[in-house]
Amino acid sequence: MPEETKKQDEAKKVPEAAEKPTNCMKCNKRLKRKAWYYKNNGYYCSKGCWQQAVKALAAKKDKKT
Ligand SMILES: [Zn+2]
Repeated sequence: MPEETKKQDEAKKVPEAAEKPTNCMKCNKRLKRKAWYYKNNGYYCSKGCWQQAVKALAAKKDKKT
């Protein structure tokens, strides 16, 4: 077995998931298992909430520049 195979196996190990919030980061609605929408380091109840959050973030960035 080549060394590289070993390395790949170790990389496969998924680190323990970080703490998951129980509420949507946008509307604060309670998140059900499997129902949440994870994107860009945020947890949301739906794609809509995520998009709103993304827009808000983009607006913030625009202001900075
Ligand atoms: Zn939401």
